[in-house]
Amino acid sequence: MQFRDLQLNKPILKAITESNYQNPTEVQEQVIPLVLEKKDIIVSAQTGTGKTAAFALPILKLLFDKQDAPKKGKKIRSLIICPTRELAIQINESFKTYGKYYNLKTTVVYGGASIEPQKEVLKKGIDILIATPGRLLDLHKQDVVHLDFIETLVLDEADLMLDMGFIDDIKKIERLCPVNKQILLFSATMPLKIQQLAKSSLNDPVKIEVSPVSSAAKSVDSVLYYVPKPKKIELCLHLLRNNIKGSILIFRRTKFGVDKLEKTLLNNNYYAVSIHGDKTQIAREEALNKFKNKEANILIATDVASRGIDISNLDVVINFDIPNIPETYVHRIGRTGRAGEIGNAYSFCSADEKNYIIEIQKLINTVISVEDDHPYPLDPKAKPEVHKKKGSKYKKGRKSAAAKKKKKRWY
Ligand code: AMP
Repeated sequence: MQFRDLQLNKPILKAITESNYQNPTEVQEQVIPLVLEKKDIIVSAQTGTGKTAAFALPILKLLFDKQDAPKKGKKIRSLIICPTRELAIQINESFKTYGKYYNLKTTVVYGGASIEPQKEVLKKGIDILIATPGRLLDLHKQDVVHLDFIETLVLDEADLMLDMGFIDDIKKIERLCPVNKQILLFSATMPLKIQQLAKSSLNDPVKIEVSPVSSAAKSVDSVLYYVPKPKKIELCLHLLRNNIKGSILIFRRTKFGVDKLEKTLLNNNYYAVSIHGDKTQIAREEALNKFKNKEANILIATDVASRGIDISNLDVVINFDIPNIPETYVHRIGRTGRAGEIGNAYSFCSADEKNYIIEIQKLINTVISVEDDHPYPLDPKAKPEVHKKKGSKYKKGRKSAAAKKKKKRWY
């Protein structure tokens, strides 16, 4: 199939050609005609499948075809909700690229940045809004955003929004939009809560599944290293010196772990950058740009900060910590080995993470090959390490309400 078979019009086809896309991807072939037919859809697809263009291209066409509305006083007619700032920025860029020969206005709003400039842009009137849920509701409360004219609502990375606790916000946003809107729901996995959301909010949706999650592992050469937890950094340095080359994405579970590893790598003269939820928006964008421009060849990230971001042409993914959710492993290693090339994934498993490996192997239906030949082997009988601070002056006990309130996100 070719893009011209998909009922898109000339300005879009011109922009696609300039993006050097030869043919539509699987998700685009399936989704574009349904969006143009104004159907509700629920799509199981991951980042890297071309899902952004799958909704952006037909939305642009639908909005353009109904351009008889007055030029002045534009109303938001398409709303795209996604979990992270980075993803929101990326989607906005995609809309701008594909819609460059249209006069439709697009903007993006997200938390962690000043709200005033966002208000100014919104007041001028726009057609397409890309937003993270919290900031959108803030702007709505301040009467700057009106959702009464929404024709298409996209929920992107719905499962991650659920994991991040946005489910009530999403339901609220959905209710603020007109009843007869079209809803396009995209999710990498389909947990029960997402299915329930689809059932309660979508109108007779068409279900589409692209590259089921457990098949993403096929084009990746995965190796497992059993290593004591305190030796993981040394193993990482050893592999970087001797085995691993190219552009490398290292996943850690916590923000603290990301910072610690970045510091060590910088001290060892590697050019590493990092992203996680505590970094300012500017710092995160700077890090991503350096990695994408190949100024830095190592990016260290938490899952949440990196999810949905299109970082392509990766040579290696390192699972410095083994994820406790098996699907996360598949998402992580799916970032390497794209476009028919074999990627490489290295996973460091300490004694306390062995059960996670068992669950991952069940999901991918494969036994990951183990590399024993390295300087920091784990004693097979080793019990999980317990981290206890000796002589802590603080007694264990119930947390005060104030302490609970202060609890920070760890991603
Ligand atoms: P996404 O899954 O939307 O994050 O897209 C992943 C990457 O695929 C992005 O860099 C897109 O620019 C690229 N892409 C999207 N559609 C196509 C296509 N039809 N042909 C080639 N690349 C594409």
